[in-house]
Amino acid sequence: MADVNTAGDQPQQGFPQFTRLPREIQHKIFTEAICKPNVHFVIARRKDVAATAKWHLALFPVPKGKDTSGYRLLEPLASVNAVASSAVHLATAKVVVQPEAEHGEDSGQVQWVVDKVPFKVLGNRIDGREDLVCFQFQRTNGKLFGYFHPHHQIINLSSFDPDAQAEQVKALHKVAISSQATDPYCRNDRSVFRCVGHPNHGDWTICPQQLCGFLDSFPNLREVYIVMRAQNEVQEKEDLKDYSRNFFTLTAAARRKHNLATFHGADRSYIELHENIAVSPYWMQLTRPRQLVAMLAELRECFLLDAARLPADEQDRAVAYRLPRARREALVFKVLVPTDGTQESWEGVDQYFATWSTRVFGQVNEGVVQLAAVNNRPLLPPVGGASAGAGADGGAPAQG
Ligand SMILES: [Zn+2]
Repeated sequence: MADVNTAGDQPQQGFPQFTRLPREIQHKIFTEAICKPNVHFVIARRKDVAATAKWHLALFPVPKGKDTSGYRLLEPLASVNAVASSAVHLATAKVVVQPEAEHGEDSGQVQWVVDKVPFKVLGNRIDGREDLVCFQFQRTNGKLFGYFHPHHQIINLSSFDPDAQAEQVKALHKVAISSQATDPYCRNDRSVFRCVGHPNHGDWTICPQQLCGFLDSFPNLREVYIVMRAQNEVQEKEDLKDYSRNFFTLTAAARRKHNLATFHGADRSYIELHENIAVSPYWMQLTRPRQLVAMLAELRECFLLDAARLPADEQDRAVAYRLPRARREALVFKVLVPTDGTQESWEGVDQYFATWSTRVFGQVNEGVVQLAAVNNRPLLPPVGGASAGAGADGGAPAQG
């Protein structure tokens, strides 16, 4: 303590000790900051292909200023230094063991596979196995979306091309539709998933059968989510807030143990709706949560309606899905609730980290500064008034 310089010292700026930490520790800190798994948003529009006379969905990024996808955080972080770059690589790349071609055994040869966002204009890395990709559907030039389901191609003016679709989304294992997709009524030709005139879809406002047709084009589909947005009722918003608070009283370890889904975007998290965490025992019986659970049950039923499920005299109703039955049976369907972004959870930490990393390396990192702007939040106060946890990581002497 004798060598502490008390005279004329600037108030502590940044974290000068950080770069002296062993690379392993730096790596761990960067990895914590990445907050996996992420949610990414993509815009889907109909694209007609003259050569095949078929259509599929072309995918586009949400414009940068409005995009709250997790992938928008990764490249700025990777650009901080080599250790951060390697942390981002490890968080997104997967080691795949190449099978021995002839004997079907693992050859022991490993290969790094890096998944990218599913559109051509950007090459950002994502983790296709763990991250969630949420589709937002947009009509352009009044074009209808057409029918997705294999049974209804005959009434499509031109048919949906699931092969072209699969090629774009083959890296994705977890898919969500935002509730925007469920707004127009399924008998309305503004709907993305228009109904061919089924008598009843329970609480669905889109046709679950058409949604199955869309989901069937994801060759590696494992999990399907529907995002519950609060409607205008004040009570519902309050309930969702209470739900998020309850959710985050569980530690990350407990949430992992119970396999509760949490996906992190740039401005908020999306958490799984689970009845055991509900605000009150009655809450899950309220209209909206109950509706969504029932809707997913119906979607699942729909997806299993193939030859194996139907009696011999009804085989003509069977659908030839592309996804093997075993894969469809193993699909997980969940409801997600967006938080309001104010939980004392990772959001605050991550924002703090972004500011902090700028100071550590004494450079203004473009992406990091934009991050604060995108989130429309002020930068955090200077170090000193900031979180004790990060200070300790920066090498503060242990107490006692
Ligand atoms: Zn229908």
